[in-house]
Amino acid sequence: MKRKLVFATNNAHKLEEISSILGEKIELLSLKDIECEADIPETADTLEGNATQKAEYIYKNYGLDCFADDTGLEVEALNGAPGIYSARYAGDGHDSEANMKKLLENLQGKENRKAQFRTAICLIMNGEKYLFEGIVKGEIIQEKRGGAGFGYDPIFVPEEYNLTFAELGNDIKNTISHRAKAVEKLCDFLNK
Ligand code: IMP
Repeated sequence: MKRKLVFATNNAHKLEEISSILGEKIELLSLKDIECEADIPETADTLEGNATQKAEYIYKNYGLDCFADDTGLEVEALNGAPGIYSARYAGDGHDSEANMKKLLENLQGKENRKAQFRTAICLIMNGEKYLFEGIVKGEIIQEKRGGAGFGYDPIFVPEEYNLTFAELGNDIKNTISHRAKAVEKLCDFLNK
């Protein structure tokens, strides 16, 4: 029998990416599949805390094995900001254009443009908690470039590349990204 595992998301792209790596042995369920319509709290002050909070919510309320993720862009010259506030850096509108504009403004005149995307995943299986992390280092350029991806992709150039995530496109991004690295660790663990 296939093992069931809830991914605390309704993001179809994330679900597809992970189920293709997990293969046949695991049946991945979304929040919609378990009829969870709650706005799951994400009020911790770290990415790990938020991922854990979401996974614990599902485990406590549904008693199912599950995992949840949280991602942030951490900029060195801004002491790790926007971090957990990445989605709503410029306000509650979750507006990527406004977020990038604010970030570029806050970096004006700063020489250090180093940044990293970091993803934390919390898995709860048989009552045990496991954390996985994926990081991609790079830098924030001066102006947006490229049309693919989402969020801060047009202003982030990963190390060892000259193109932004938005110029590299999803096929390349998905092999080197923070999320890919965290998911790979999760999948290695689950497939063991
Ligand atoms: P989430 O935890 O995956 O929902 O990500 C939180 C926020 O981080 C998103 O709303 C984006 O602003 C930003 N973000 C996460 N992953 C990426 C990415 O791969 N590229 C660009 N921005 C991202």
